[in-house]
Amino acid sequence: PDTQRDKVRVVEASHAKFSYKVDGAHKYTHGHALVLTGGAGRTGAARLAARGALRIGAGLVTLGAPGSAQMEVACQITALMLRRVDDSAALAEGLADTRINALCLGPGLGIERARDLVPVAVRAEHAPYVVLDADALTAFADAPEALFGMLHDRCVLTPHGGEFARLFPDIAEKLNAVPSKGPAYSKVDATRDAAKRAGCVVLFKGPDTVIAAPDGKCAVHAATGDRAAPWLATAGAGDVLAGFITGLLARGFDPMQAAEAAAWLHVECARSFGPGLIAEDLPEELPKVFRRLG
Ligand code: AMP
Ligand code: MG
Repeated sequence: PDTQRDKVRVVEASHAKFSYKVDGAHKYTHGHALVLTGGAGRTGAARLAARGALRIGAGLVTLGAPGSAQMEVACQITALMLRRVDDSAALAEGLADTRINALCLGPGLGIERARDLVPVAVRAEHAPYVVLDADALTAFADAPEALFGMLHDRCVLTPHGGEFARLFPDIAEKLNAVPSKGPAYSKVDATRDAAKRAGCVVLFKGPDTVIAAPDGKCAVHAATGDRAAPWLATAGAGDVLAGFITGLLARGFDPMQAAEAAAWLHVECARSFGPGLIAEDLPEELPKVFRRLG
């Protein structure tokens, strides 16, 4: 019997409590994250993700932008670094000459660019962690099996409902069906089945977020009741979450831990800020949340 099958962890504050390595820490011990962005005029989403990765404690965060976006990105970023990444060849070169611990692809990336870059990211020789969100998921909607064939246990997928249905249409259909008898097929069941098929951790977003690993490990975080934060349903919120996960992976968290801690912190930042929140407020709220966590 699969003993993991029935256990579902409820994500709580203790899962988001972590500390810095105090002795002899330097920025490289806290990891280096690379966030890829799309071209000019659509760099906001990746900049949100990069800001999230930086605030959550990655030691270094680089934005990988194509030539057309260099000026736009350069005049916005300060603590972030910038690298020119025009195509998959440039990404492969970058991954070969810089030690990157975690990559984030999808927010504002563009479908064509996602199809070009994702295979290089997930097949990189030193196997950095890879978070795939947004366009990096939608790009494979017509051939999800091709994507799953490339993924490994250091990848994390972060679909919202629409992205989930595009990658796992049969699972989404089962989830949305009303059963005539017997127990309903739940979001927990759906996320576990998706993780098993993808071969990596899947974080299925929504007011209730479910995180599952291929072995059946599962955690839920419901932003309902005393954890409600309906104002988190705002443009760019998901991009920040992808950045939070990427930053924690860069720091050395494993995919389940990173997804759980990021999901909790994301909602905590939204609750701490309150109504009127926009996505860029989320990373800025982290220091306050960390101080309260102790
Ligand atoms: P995205 O659709 O990619 O921008 O992601 C939206 C983010 O907002 C995800 O992290 C969701 O879990 C979160 N979210 C969406 N709706 C709600 C809601 N009603 N309450 C709390 N969080 C939500
Ligand atoms: Mg999104």
